[in-house]
Amino acid sequence: MTQQTNAHFNSPVHECDPIVAQALDNERARQQNQIELIASENIVSRAVLDALGHEMTNKTLEGYPGNRFHGGGQFVDVVEQAAIDRAKELFGCAYANVQPHSGTQANLAVFFLLMKPGEKVLSLDLAAGGHLSHGMKGNLSGRWFEAHNYNVNSQNEVIDYDEMERIAEEVRPKLLITGGSAYPRELDFERMAKIAKKVGAYFMVDMAHIAGLVAGGAHPSPFPHADIVTCTTTKTLRGPRGGLILTNNEEWFKKLQAAVFPGVQGSLHSNVLAAKAICLGEALRDDFKAYAHQVKANARVLAETLADRGIRIVSGGTDTHIVLLDLSSKGLNGKQVEDVLARANITSNKNPIPGDSPRPAEWVGMRLGTSAATTRGLKEDEFKALGDVIADLIEAEAAGKADDVVEGAKATVARLTAAFPVYAH
Ligand SMILES: *Cc1c(COP(=O)(O)O)cnc(C)c1O
Repeated sequence: MTQQTNAHFNSPVHECDPIVAQALDNERARQQNQIELIASENIVSRAVLDALGHEMTNKTLEGYPGNRFHGGGQFVDVVEQAAIDRAKELFGCAYANVQPHSGTQANLAVFFLLMKPGEKVLSLDLAAGGHLSHGMKGNLSGRWFEAHNYNVNSQNEVIDYDEMERIAEEVRPKLLITGGSAYPRELDFERMAKIAKKVGAYFMVDMAHIAGLVAGGAHPSPFPHADIVTCTTTKTLRGPRGGLILTNNEEWFKKLQAAVFPGVQGSLHSNVLAAKAICLGEALRDDFKAYAHQVKANARVLAETLADRGIRIVSGGTDTHIVLLDLSSKGLNGKQVEDVLARANITSNKNPIPGDSPRPAEWVGMRLGTSAATTRGLKEDEFKALGDVIADLIEAEAAGKADDVVEGAKATVARLTAAFPVYAH
């Protein structure tokens, strides 16, 4: 039997694998019927989905365009080169490696490039919004390098640059890292670059969360201040799961290519490179600039609405897509609120806030993000309505009366999800 006559091999998933097909259908419906407020999520375009499901995934290649270890790579070369060219144009830098399989892999490649085991990194504290790949003990970065942290100011909850400078002078790290997963304020790249320079450290910006805002001109660019920049193509950049590494340093770039492959990865993900090229092309368009500014405007409305209802907003507001809530102001923890929002089909995540407990079950924070719902088309009016629904649920939960408001909240969410479909079919 050839594969052409093998009916199973040629069947769509609905005919050949009911378990997986059902889960795929359920996930599609779940996405359509809930409002996604997890700050690291977004919704990719139809074209990005097309690339991810394309037979380009069959192609194995190692190396870089024009210098491959396998034949038949001429069309993958086209998409990888397009991704490289677009990344450079979008972020205004001289060199781009578009192969990292994830943001964590991108960071690992930078460590491989710049650091020897035992050397020191200085990064943002996890509870203040840092990322596990910046030196957390449970991550390879924390096992192989000596991690030190800077923090936010306990009064205004904005990064304390004076303290960062003091710690940097004391620790003298090889690498200063900024960027995080739950830091809602604008980052002062110029100031941090000066601190790095003063102590002889390299300065790395991990802009995973804000790359789409940077691309759309809604957050300052890390260039020309950063020595090296990493990011994911997911999150605000609205592309496939994967990472990028960017730099202006020609000397480093040659070594960086080797740090990604064969340093920390083997073959590339061909279809994902196509999807990365597509998302970077989309981010160069004017409508993406409008999108990035809308994401930020929506976050501001959400923060103001919740603050007006007496919920404390960490740092007093937001300059990004992230709104971080301190639920201790309502006598609740993150898990309780995550659960009550889920009952109304609003998806969110509990999160530590500065100074929070190390135990997730005790975290009093909740991280909300506006990127995915903004992609669906929600604007200020809808985010005001959503903010009020969230406040209603939080107040009712605090009073032990969530049952009274869940149905009403669900109805509001259902109106929004019906009016703003994920994909127009
Ligand atoms: C999400 C994130 C990453 C990791 O990306 P993965 O693709 O999940 O590995 C790295 N750094 C920061 C700051 C992030 O927010």
